[in-house]
Amino acid sequence: MTTQRPRVRIIATGGSIAGIGPDRMDYILYPEVGGHLTIDESLARIPEVNDIAEVQAEDIVSVGSTAIGPPEWLRMAQRINGIFQEDADLTGVAITHGTATLEETAYFLHLTVKSSKPVVVTGAMRPPTAIGTDADLNLLDAVRIASLPEAGGRGVLTVLNNEIQCARDVTKANTYRVETFRPNELGFLGYADSDGQVVFYRNPTRKHTADTPFDVSGLDSLPRVDVVYSYAGSDGLLVDAVRRNRSDGLVLAGFGGGTFPPAVQEAGAAAVAEGIPVVMATRATAGRVVMTPQKENLGFIVCDNLLPQKARVLLMMALTVTRDRKEIQRMFYEF
Ligand code: ASP
Repeated sequence: MTTQRPRVRIIATGGSIAGIGPDRMDYILYPEVGGHLTIDESLARIPEVNDIAEVQAEDIVSVGSTAIGPPEWLRMAQRINGIFQEDADLTGVAITHGTATLEETAYFLHLTVKSSKPVVVTGAMRPPTAIGTDADLNLLDAVRIASLPEAGGRGVLTVLNNEIQCARDVTKANTYRVETFRPNELGFLGYADSDGQVVFYRNPTRKHTADTPFDVSGLDSLPRVDVVYSYAGSDGLLVDAVRRNRSDGLVLAGFGGGTFPPAVQEAGAAAVAEGIPVVMATRATAGRVVMTPQKENLGFIVCDNLLPQKARVLLMMALTVTRDRKEIQRMFYEF
């Protein structure tokens, strides 16, 4: 009797997980000198994947993730939504991606994929050509998770180093370590573990995927949102550049619980007065930015506990449906 394997689609985008280095000792130079394996070449390294699932794979782009941004996010989200619509029996989708911007792509998909089936993003810290690469196992783990219906309903997941994380909370926290993806203090969701088991211990509580109002189906671009980072003594120069550019939105990464050099706060308030929604975030790597009477009076929005780069993604998506400040603030508490 043949049992039917779950069916998983893989969307590949490049990154270290597909990186080709000049030699087996190279962990550094390959993004500058090498190309990328195709997803079929990556899969040929791990025939074991066929024991887990029936896999169909495509390269949607083949770049380092420093070259991935809103146009590629839209292509990915539209492709994934299209795949789920046309292939009702599919179990899940896995995405390979460079680690540099993996967390932003994952959160964008967390807000825009309209399915409760598993969607899992993975990458690698050591290219497949290097000794001790994590590329093969991470790809295998992503397929393993995407092939389990019970991994669904938790929004977009990431997996590297056997650790399953929530797209909203995960961030790259170290330049070279394989355990670089951390859940920003909140705890990871589970393991794709050494015995082949996928185990979950917790679920995300914020709304995601089918429970957001964000529809990317007709979009070919996204609102422009910039991030300005504060440092001791920073002035209004960069905020003013954003104002002059008439960007659609601005995220200010301030200090601690959401405080700013006076000139930055003043320039930010001027941006708000000109109609640019401004979200206050923090360069502290965890914790909430809380609304205060002064922030409220000046018309700022607070990020809750989203990192500045994630707050940018949510503000971009919020601006596709509203420019109302209260409504945007509500979204920062909801998603
Ligand atoms: N340069 C790589 C990237 O595409 C880094 C990585 O994947 O780890 O983001």
